[in-house]
Amino acid sequence: MLAVPGAWAQSFVDNTDPPFWWTDMPVEGVQLMIHGEDLKKYDIEVDHPGVTVEKVEHGDSPHYAFVYLNVAESVAPGILELKWLHPDHPQRAAETTTFELRARSPRKAEGYSGSDAICLITPDRFSNGNPDNDAVSGLTEAPNRSDDHGRHGGDLAGIRNHLEYLSGMGFTAVWLNPLLENNQPQWSYHGYATTDYYRVDPRFGTNAEYQQLADAAQQNGLKLIMDMIMNHCGSEHPWMDDLPTKDWINNSGTFSPTTHRRTTLRDPYATASDLKRFSDGWFVKEMPDLNQRQPLLADYLIQNTIWWVEYLGLSGIRMDTYPYSDADFMTRWTCNLRAAYPHLNICGEEWSLNPAVLAYWQEGQDNPDGYTSCLPGLLDFPLHHAFMQSMNADETWQSNWVNLYEMLGNDFLYPDPFNHIVFPDNHDMSRVHTQLGDDALKTRLAVAFFATTRGIPQFYYGTEILMSNAGDDSHGNIRSDFPGGWAGDTTNGFTGEGLSPEALDFQDFTRRLLHWRQTSSAVHNGTLTHYVPEGEAYVYFRQDSASTVMVVLNQSDSTEVLSLSRFDEVLNGRRTFLDVLDDTRPAVDQNQLHVPASTAWILEIR
Ligand code: CA
Repeated sequence: MLAVPGAWAQSFVDNTDPPFWWTDMPVEGVQLMIHGEDLKKYDIEVDHPGVTVEKVEHGDSPHYAFVYLNVAESVAPGILELKWLHPDHPQRAAETTTFELRARSPRKAEGYSGSDAICLITPDRFSNGNPDNDAVSGLTEAPNRSDDHGRHGGDLAGIRNHLEYLSGMGFTAVWLNPLLENNQPQWSYHGYATTDYYRVDPRFGTNAEYQQLADAAQQNGLKLIMDMIMNHCGSEHPWMDDLPTKDWINNSGTFSPTTHRRTTLRDPYATASDLKRFSDGWFVKEMPDLNQRQPLLADYLIQNTIWWVEYLGLSGIRMDTYPYSDADFMTRWTCNLRAAYPHLNICGEEWSLNPAVLAYWQEGQDNPDGYTSCLPGLLDFPLHHAFMQSMNADETWQSNWVNLYEMLGNDFLYPDPFNHIVFPDNHDMSRVHTQLGDDALKTRLAVAFFATTRGIPQFYYGTEILMSNAGDDSHGNIRSDFPGGWAGDTTNGFTGEGLSPEALDFQDFTRRLLHWRQTSSAVHNGTLTHYVPEGEAYVYFRQDSASTVMVVLNQSDSTEVLSLSRFDEVLNGRRTFLDVLDDTRPAVDQNQLHVPASTAWILEIR
C-alpha cells in the first residue's frame, strides 16, 4: 500500500490528543497520544523541517502510541505528516496521518489578583442561551429541568449573553465550573467527571465557543479562570474500556474509595497503608483516580493544561481536589505552568479548616518534610468557616467576632495570605444567604467583609439577588437556576423583573460595593490591620500610600458606640469619614462613632 495523504489518511487512527499544537511555544516539544488500530506494530517518522521524533512509547494496550515530537523554535506553522512504517516493509509508509502546528495568537491575559472580584458560575444553571444543544445525540444524559441533579440546559451561549450583566455588577473575573465533556449517565451537569480532556461538552457548546467566550469576556473586562481536575476522570472516559497502561488508574482500575482523611499526608504518625488509601483511593465510584506517577499520564495532564491556557488565554486556574493528587506531580504541574505562563494565577482546593494544612501547599512555604510547590494561592476555607462561626455562634462574653479575628491571626502561617481566594460560599456548600438564616442584613455583612478583607473575593452567582437553598442543602438545590436565564422565567435577575424589593436592594448594594472596590487600591493591595473585637463590632483597616479604608461590621441588633481614640494608631487624629456606598458622612459625636444595628460600614478616611 502506498502512502496517500488525504481523505482516507487518518482511517486507522480514531483520536489524537491534543487535536493540534502551536509553534513557538514556551515549552519544549509535544506529546501526541494517538489511539487507533494496532498502533504498536508501526515505526513512526515525521518529515517536516525542524520537527523530529524524540521517542515513541507504547503502553500496555496495543491501541496507543505516545509520540514525543521536538519542535524547533524556527518551525513554521503547518500540517505535519506522520508516516507509519510497517516493520515488514520498512521502505514504505503503510499509512500517513496528519497533525497541525498552528501559529500562536497571543491573548494579553493578566493573572487575577487582589484587584479582582470573581463571580463563580455553574454553567448548567446560569442561563440557557441555546436550547438546541440541551440534548445531543451520543451523549447519554438528556435534559431534565425538573430534576435538581439533572441537566438544565445552561451553556456557554447563556454566559456570553450576560457578560455585560456580570461586568455591570462590578465583577472583573469569572470562574466557570468545568465545561469539558462529561458523558456520564447521571449528575453530569456539575462537570467534575471528565470523559474527554480536549472537548467542551457539546451540551455547553463547542471549543470554539469557549474561546469566543474567553475573548468576549476579556473585552468586557472579565478575566477567565478555568476549573480543572487532575485527580480523577469520569468513569465513562474511553480510557476505562482500554487502559493505556495497567497503572493508568490507581487501585488497578477498580473502585476503592479514598479515606478523605487529607491530614494523613502530613501526619507524623501516619502509616504507609493509610497514605496509599488516601492518595490512591477514588474520590467516588464515578471518578476513577488517575495515577499521576505514570510518566505518560503526567505528561498528558500537564500538556492538557498548557493547551487550554494557550487556547483560551486564561488568567487563572482553580484546581479541584488538590491534595488528592500525587503531591510531587502537583509540584511539577504548578512549576511547569508558572514557568511557561508567568502571569498565570492558580488556586488549589484544599478543603481543610486548618490554615497550617493550607499553608503546606503554598509556594514559598518551608515545610519540615521538604515539600515545595509553585502553587500561588488556595481557596480559604478556614476563613469562610471562621466568619460563619462568628455570625452564627451564640453571643459570648468576649465578642462574636473572636473566631474570625483569631483565624486571621493565623495568617503568619502563610507565605502569602493575600493571594488566597476568599468567599462567603461556593458551589459545594449552602448559599451564604441560607447559611445566615436568610437574613439579608447578615448576608450584607458577609459580602462586605469578603469584599474588603485580604485576599481575592469570589461570590457565587445569584448571591447578589439573595439566592437561597433554604430547607435543602443538596448540591442540586444549591446550584439552582439563575432566574431569567431560561425563556419563560417569570422572575429575571438580569433585568430585575419580578425580584423582591429586598433582592433588588441587595443587588444594588452589591453593584455599588463591587464598583467602588474596583477603585480602591487600598483594598486591592494595601495592608490589613484589625483591632481586637469588642462588643458586637469588628473594626479593620486597609491602607496604602494613597488611601485608608476603615471597615466596621456591627452584627448587633442595636447601635454600637466606637470610641475613636482607640483607633488613632491608624486614624492619626483624622475624624472625617466618607461612607463609600452612599457618599454620606457619618457624624462624629464627642470623638465617637455610632454604628447602627446590623450594619457594614466601609468608610474612607479623609
Ligand atoms: Ca442549552
